Amino acid sequence: RFITFEGGEGAGKSTQVLRLVARLESAGHEVVKTREPGGSPGAESIRDLVLRGAADRWSPVTETLLMYAARRDHIERVIRPALSRGAWVVCDRFADSTRAYQGAAGGTAPGLIAALETFVLEDIKPDLTLVFDLPVDIGLARAHARAGAEMRFESKGAAFHERLREGFRAIAEAEPERCALIDASGGMDEVEGEVWRAVSDRLTI
Ligand code: C5P
Repeated sequence: RFITFEGGEGAGKSTQVLRLVARLESAGHEVVKTREPGGSPGAESIRDLVLRGAADRWSPVTETLLMYAARRDHIERVIRPALSRGAWVVCDRFADSTRAYQGAAGGTAPGLIAALETFVLEDIKPDLTLVFDLPVDIGLARAHARAGAEMRFESKGAAFHERLREGFRAIAEAEPERCALIDASGGMDEVEGEVWRAVSDRLTI
């Protein structure tokens, strides 16, 4: 089983990833917890290339290609082997982040992203995607409060983050069989409950 977490800045994904992994492990499953951009040594190097340095170092299209190079390495070395041996894979961000960040918010053509998905992902598709949604101002306030956060998003204006939110919401709306929209504005325990409901409703634990 392959579960992905998606959403904008300050949505609280990483806390909920840890909580879900703990619950699935107590249910007796082997769980591989991973993240994007990154998740394999090569992909982590590409993450550094993209996220460190000036926000305009790469054009949106180049950034999309780098994200997809990283994703391919992550799939080949981590995701596919784990799924093949029957492990559950829980990934903090995946292909929807490219659609939303580089696509809806960054302006890369949807056709280019769709073509990359076809060739790079092949048959790899999340069984469930949890799309964390919350108002932009709340998310940005949380992200600023987080110590050591990558502050790349600081250079982007509020309009960027609104497009990002709309991008994620549109994905959840377009693919309701794969995606569950999670109200991420509540407290951690509340959100954990919502995540667990979505997972246990849709997948056999
Ligand atoms: O998962 P997390 O929110 O920690 O993401 C790290 C950073 O990577 C985010 O601040 C986001 O700006 C950036 N990112 C990006 N494009 C993606 C995925 C993440 O710019 N496709």
